[in-house]
Amino acid sequence: MSKKVLVFAETKDGKLRNISFEAITVGQGLSEGGEVIVSLFGPEASQYVQEVSEYGANKVYLLEDESLSTFTTDAYTQALCQLIEEVQADVILMGHTAIGKDVAPRAAARLGLGLASDCTGAELENGNIIFTRPIYAGKAFQKKVFNKGKVFATLRPNNFDIQKNPNESEVVSFQPVIKDIRTIVKEIVRKTAGGVDLSEAKVIISGGRGVKNKDGFKPLQELAEVLGGAVGASRGACDADYCDYSLQIGQTGKVVTPDLYIACGISGAIQHLAGMSNSKVIVAINKDPEAPIFQVADYGIVGDLFEVVPLLTEEFKKA
Ligand code: FAD
Repeated sequence: MSKKVLVFAETKDGKLRNISFEAITVGQGLSEGGEVIVSLFGPEASQYVQEVSEYGANKVYLLEDESLSTFTTDAYTQALCQLIEEVQADVILMGHTAIGKDVAPRAAARLGLGLASDCTGAELENGNIIFTRPIYAGKAFQKKVFNKGKVFATLRPNNFDIQKNPNESEVVSFQPVIKDIRTIVKEIVRKTAGGVDLSEAKVIISGGRGVKNKDGFKPLQELAEVLGGAVGASRGACDADYCDYSLQIGQTGKVVTPDLYIACGISGAIQHLAGMSNSKVIVAINKDPEAPIFQVADYGIVGDLFEVVPLLTEEFKKA
């Protein structure tokens, strides 16, 4: 039976986030020939219409209310709930991002819907929707089967293929009724300047306590620049004040799934693995051949990161 899929397209710094395109492609797979409806929030929403159409949106809903110009939990949750009811969506997809993690459970609870969060897989089987999601900090995967009713899911970024499927999208303007907002955004303070977004980076060079101090991150930054990647960190490095907590990867940090993860001077504690063990290729550089990180690594280099990382940078520069 064909389904109406509503995708919440997320933007950051004036650009659509990659997860928006991943969600549109997933939506097409789940719709069984039904509609993929994409929502765009904020006064600038119309500038993204063409791009989401290229990826296969059948309809685009613009919610251009001024109160949606910056993210607030109250405004976004109210707007999304009203939109879900307006379009009568069968499946609602958001990224498992800071916004998705905040809004999806609230909206699902308000509308009495089930929620599959942090999904790493989504497929259709005999009309049932099956979402795969990690449990026990990524040690096991669970399949959640939905065979009736509306379904709400957040998708882990960098896990799904993106396919272009150009469409002539119908554009609809929707005005939600937003009231009683309890928070006001006064200022946005950026902890990291520019660079590649860690949660969507294809390459991550991560440093642990083995980098020794703040300056120890410099060789990692140089390698990241050469590979067009981002720098991440273990909590050990953050706790030691070698870098900012915004770089922390793991159970209580960011969950990442890049194509290439290079762990430098990271022991591989279970809490760190929870945030990166689904990376496609893992390279570990560690002085200790017994370090647990080698158990999840595809390639292991036993050595001093201060010798190995600059050598890698030099070699990649030549490539
Ligand atoms: P260490 O365990 O100290 O490892 C440093 C490694 O560097 C060692 O293996 C050493 O051999 C190697 N090394 C040293 N010098 C060099 C060198 N010159 N060259 C190469 N290798 C070198 N941790 C996270 O990362 N993310 C989380 O989200 C997280 N959440 C947590 C939540 C809870 C509730 C708890 C209790 C802990 C959490 N932790 C988390 C902490 C985690 O348990 C570890 O303490 C932490 O990951 C260790 O960081 P590390 O690997 O950098 O440091």
